[in-house]
Amino acid sequence: MTDFKKIISHAKQYGFVFPSSEIYDGLSAVYDYAQNGVALKKNIRDYWWKSMVQLHHNIVGIDTAIFMHPTTWKASGHVDAFNDPLIDNKDSKKRYRADVLVEDYCSKIENKMDKEIAKAAKRFGDDFDQEEFIKTNRRVVGYQEKINQILKRLGQSLEKEDLTNVKNLIEELEIACPESGSRNWTEVKQFNLMFGTKLGASADSAMDLYLRPETAQGIFVNFLNVQKTGRLKIPFGIAQTGKAFRNEIVARQFIFRMREFEQMEMQFFIPPGTQKEWYNQWKETRLKWHLSLGMGEENYRFHDHEKLAHYADAAADIEFKFPFGFKELEGIHSRTDFDLVSHEEFSGKKLQYFDHEQNENYVPYVVETSVGLDRMFLAVFSWALREEMLEDGSSRTVLKLPSILAPIKIAILPLVKKDGLPELGKKLMDDLKWNHEVSYDEKDAVGRRYRRQDALGTPYCITVDHQTLEDQTVTIRDRDTMKQERISIEALGGFLNKKLDFKNWLKKIQ
Ligand code: ATP
Repeated sequence: MTDFKKIISHAKQYGFVFPSSEIYDGLSAVYDYAQNGVALKKNIRDYWWKSMVQLHHNIVGIDTAIFMHPTTWKASGHVDAFNDPLIDNKDSKKRYRADVLVEDYCSKIENKMDKEIAKAAKRFGDDFDQEEFIKTNRRVVGYQEKINQILKRLGQSLEKEDLTNVKNLIEELEIACPESGSRNWTEVKQFNLMFGTKLGASADSAMDLYLRPETAQGIFVNFLNVQKTGRLKIPFGIAQTGKAFRNEIVARQFIFRMREFEQMEMQFFIPPGTQKEWYNQWKETRLKWHLSLGMGEENYRFHDHEKLAHYADAAADIEFKFPFGFKELEGIHSRTDFDLVSHEEFSGKKLQYFDHEQNENYVPYVVETSVGLDRMFLAVFSWALREEMLEDGSSRTVLKLPSILAPIKIAILPLVKKDGLPELGKKLMDDLKWNHEVSYDEKDAVGRRYRRQDALGTPYCITVDHQTLEDQTVTIRDRDTMKQERISIEALGGFLNKKLDFKNWLKKIQ
């Protein structure tokens, strides 16, 4: 995988992601999506939406406002409990999330473990049984036990809100500030992540509001509206994508952790008592969705939570191997009836479902799937970016995006800027643009144009040359193999539709 700095600079250089308000030196942990980034982001969002809403007859979508009545956030528990443990280093004056310091310490142990495994794999060659080695090698087992012990203690301390113990853990592990190397820490404190603002023009009557820290609550407060107007029967789901805002303590990993970001969430409403089964099913379905993009099974893993949020009776993350290690990409949470019961209490309105078959009213339980769109973007983008050595000794930068997600699907390149080839190319573009995102490029030698499209992640380049004038064929070049084949213009539509049809990707998860 490519170096993280290279990923950030490629994202900027090729018009994917810019720092926000860059002419004023940017704004910490806020980013803008540029012309290619917005297309990649939209394609990821569409891929999610189609798999959730279009392919499930019992899931519908909504789009609720970012501003919500402030009581929403009392009921949801965010006012009291949406905190992260914060710790300052007295020498560097840098602020950290205490839990992240401990987790990063564990990642370092994990790296040592990976090195042991890689060494052994080299030593044993084809006979190497990795699973057996992990189970039996004394050093590896020791590392794993240490990680488990640390994470368990961290989880239990956070669960009990025992912040002194979190500080003790940091001291016992001799964790130093990554910036200054000092171990001179303050106490651990809780910090609320919600952004506050005001609604209304006059100072005395203005209402205190929050920018939503998750999209889920817009779904809960509309649960009965949607169920009744959609005549939906349990089990059913409500999906939404939209912006969320969190005043993150530390946000230094590009678009991995932003203060303004986008979520793609789905709340699945089920009868009480069936949550375990649905939780497992959604874990599986969501993992399959990720795998359908072909980014390698080995790059995903589940992480079951020790510390559960105030609303959950089970929770797991789907982690992805980012350039800085395995980190959360998506959360799957069994949220019980916590949110609906709490909204009933705070609003005084009933939020119950009448089950005609059972002839009874109940508050449904909920299983949630929640994935960050920006994090998904980073996963795809960082996985795709490669520096490749070619047979002739030269190298190329290529963005091997799953072709279904690429911002531009096809680039049309006339071989030369004369002899009627540009006109032919433009005509081809006009024909193909009804079904695909197409670009046209006639500047520079064709080799350089290929490189430019490789760096943008365009899966197919179509070259129009003199032979095209004679026999109505073009060459089509595959980004990944760099192989070119001749194909008739007539057959082009069918070929591209087959390669770029959502169906052929999403079918894998059915
Ligand atoms: P983390 O532990 O990384 O802070 P979280 O557990 O608080 O994440 P959730 O509340 O479960 O995250 O949110 C669901 C998803 O939203 C996450 O899996 C992640 O993909 C995304 N997400 C959460 N916070 C951010 C953020 N600050 N920037 C970008 N994406 C985020």
